[in-house]
Amino acid sequence: MKRILLASTLILVSLISNSQNFEVETLKLSGETNKRINLVILSEGYQSSEFDKFKTDATSFMTDMFTQSPFKEYTNYFNVYIIKVPSNESGSDHPGTASDVSEPASPITTADTYFNTSYDSFGTHRLLYSSDYATISTVLANNFPEYDQSIVLVNSDVYGGSGGTFPFTSTGTSANEIAIHELGHSMFDLKDEYYPGDALAAEAINMTQETNPSLVKWKNWIGTNNIGIYPYASSGNAANWNRPHQTCKMRYLGYDFCAVCKEGMIEKIHDLVAPIDSYNPVSNTLEPNTFPVNFGLNLIKPVPNTLESTWTLNSNNVANNVDELALEASDFNEGENTLTAVVFDNSPMLKIDNHNTIHASTVTWKINYSSLGIEDMTTKENSFNIEMYPNPTENTINFTFKNRNNSTLKIEIATIDGKIINSTSVANLETKSIDISPLQSGIYLANFYTDNAFVGSKKIVKQ
Ligand SMILES: [Zn+2]
Repeated sequence: MKRILLASTLILVSLISNSQNFEVETLKLSGETNKRINLVILSEGYQSSEFDKFKTDATSFMTDMFTQSPFKEYTNYFNVYIIKVPSNESGSDHPGTASDVSEPASPITTADTYFNTSYDSFGTHRLLYSSDYATISTVLANNFPEYDQSIVLVNSDVYGGSGGTFPFTSTGTSANEIAIHELGHSMFDLKDEYYPGDALAAEAINMTQETNPSLVKWKNWIGTNNIGIYPYASSGNAANWNRPHQTCKMRYLGYDFCAVCKEGMIEKIHDLVAPIDSYNPVSNTLEPNTFPVNFGLNLIKPVPNTLESTWTLNSNNVANNVDELALEASDFNEGENTLTAVVFDNSPMLKIDNHNTIHASTVTWKINYSSLGIEDMTTKENSFNIEMYPNPTENTINFTFKNRNNSTLKIEIATIDGKIINSTSVANLETKSIDISPLQSGIYLANFYTDNAFVGSKKIVKQ
């Protein structure tokens, strides 16, 4: 599994001087660490004698998290672990120096804790934070280097938390809600849907200065699920910025993430985890001359399952939406055969017909067949990310292609009734522009193929 924080993890390896090992316990195991998003909860302000409480608090957070959409639907994509980091004293610092409340808003405290967290950070009472990222990184690198996202759980019942690379949350009222909101920032790059201040205002999944409903990045959602273009305020700089919803969790705790945020979160999950957990046969376990041969996919299914699959044998569609396919000897041609299974997520939370990226995963079996039976077989797994933009467009349309196996993408631009107008190839990590200015206005299709297999299709609106 790809690492969200790869860069910082690598840099900080050199900072490790005292390599302390702490107990790691698994709270939720969905699959192998390299095939899942690994969320790691660190204890802060818990003494060793309080580790049972830590586990209870962490479990409460986790249970809450997976009752909420889209974590609920994508629960099988996550593993959760706790690292029991002991502090000398319980709680966290509260110096009483905040300027946004009349202090002491909660009792003044000082606690000797492992990560040295404190309330009143940046003059704000509820901002529970530590700047000691080096220590957090070291603990993660020494104890769970495969982590994708961590969260620091602070043993204090005073309301508070913060986002950033390493989000922090307390155990106080609404703590789980704060933690899930902070994960929205840290893991999914969401912005606050209350005005976060001029310094933090920026274009993001759920924040924009665009006010044209046909151009705004969440245009496909306008008019559904109460998604619109809502200014953050009626005056001042905040009035120049817009959010997609009035009561998203990125604005108010206790509400769901809005449809735009959910879509962005699922896109990120897809970036990190391919839905194919395993497949069979892999070449070295094949029993060549026993028919039928069963080909199978073991998928990481959302709940409810929104994965769909397309099976292609030698350019013919042979099955859809099945996990197993049995092929007889008579199904194969003499010589080389290609069987491909393409898996994609057709979740209604993605507006997949229009959204900007196609994620697809494939398994390809190359089967060499003769009158003696299957003589040889090789297999390959791949994951794709195809971006197409802008859309609608008048002149050029761009395609960016990323995949795990360095394959090349073939793109066909076709009319809606299937006549091919243009065909080109895009290498891995390449962006290619196609000039469609000579075409008449209307709807066209971009069809995508790799390794001779169809992997998806998107509508192009030519203006
Ligand atoms: Zn939102």
